[in-house]
Amino acid sequence: MPGSEILESIVPRSIIIGNSILDKIPQIIKSLRFKPKVMVFTGPKTRHIIGNDVFSILEKGNISFDSLIIEEASIEAANTYQDSVNDNGSNLIICAGGGRVIEIGKFCSFKANQKTELISVPTTASHDGIASPFIFLNDPTEKYIGESRPPVAIIADIDKIIQHPDLPRYLAAGVGDTVGKMTAIWDWRYAHRIKSVKFSRFVGGVLQSADSLFQNQVSEALVDQENAIKVVLKALLIAGVLMGTSNDIRVGYGSEHLFSQALHSETPNKDILHGERVALGTILMAKLQGQDYQQIIKILDSAGCPTCIDDLEDEIEPEAVIRALQRAHEVDSIYTILGETGLSKKAAETLAIQTNVIS
Ligand SMILES: [Zn+2]
Repeated sequence: MPGSEILESIVPRSIIIGNSILDKIPQIIKSLRFKPKVMVFTGPKTRHIIGNDVFSILEKGNISFDSLIIEEASIEAANTYQDSVNDNGSNLIICAGGGRVIEIGKFCSFKANQKTELISVPTTASHDGIASPFIFLNDPTEKYIGESRPPVAIIADIDKIIQHPDLPRYLAAGVGDTVGKMTAIWDWRYAHRIKSVKFSRFVGGVLQSADSLFQNQVSEALVDQENAIKVVLKALLIAGVLMGTSNDIRVGYGSEHLFSQALHSETPNKDILHGERVALGTILMAKLQGQDYQQIIKILDSAGCPTCIDDLEDEIEPEAVIRALQRAHEVDSIYTILGETGLSKKAAETLAIQTNVIS
């Protein structure tokens, strides 16, 4: 029936970015329209950056809570954490930490026996998972699991994020994940043309404008760390929220992410951040799509984000990139520039060499 289509957008209620704002947490909890039973998730390292502060703010606000240290992001570990959430009857999880902590929080909210909300208190600005409803866990390498409700609130305290011991690298990875939206939108529009998948012109347009604004601002912003955190955070939050608005993972997940996951499978024990893999994927896919991949290299270079395998912390073989390019289309059923059969070995090798991702 014409006009009967329903679009359900689920977006965070509050997004707060600023200095020394953790003390807003009790106020946000008290504004929720249910009696909260709080569980705080934090990491073994991030506990010292942010977790302990969240504990003392909750104590000061007379909010009782349980806590869990999240050590692993495997599906097996996630199921164990989720048992604890169910056993405790928790209905509000505060994720005070990095990517692993938030992904486990989303998983537990998704699988919980009762409606369970999330508050995200990130320690890094390195990927858009801090605001999106989509869950990725290691199985044994990065894998899409499903869709939870997005966090009810995101509280990004610049004073805490700036303390991250590896801040420049994580920020650069955040730039890598953000530039990936360019190839993801291209793939989404392409899938609309070739496979008639639903495409939101509004969401695509907003994300594209936000991305151009980001690209114009980012080089200048990176001169000052505090400003850089704000610019990268806003870009990641916009992307994450738009994923929830459109209820479609394609907003921020295209061939560059498929490549990233395939590369992760090829190099499971190497120290490569999600945004670093996505950055390489974006360069490769932009070239395939006929987009200006050299401009993308320029932006990534200015941010200090790897643009070739020689820039990575750990050494990886060029063959791993070639195999990941050949296998990327098998990672997920979404239709992208890689098509249904992917790249031949020769095409993959040529692409990786032409873009200088390998030499
Ligand atoms: Zn990503």
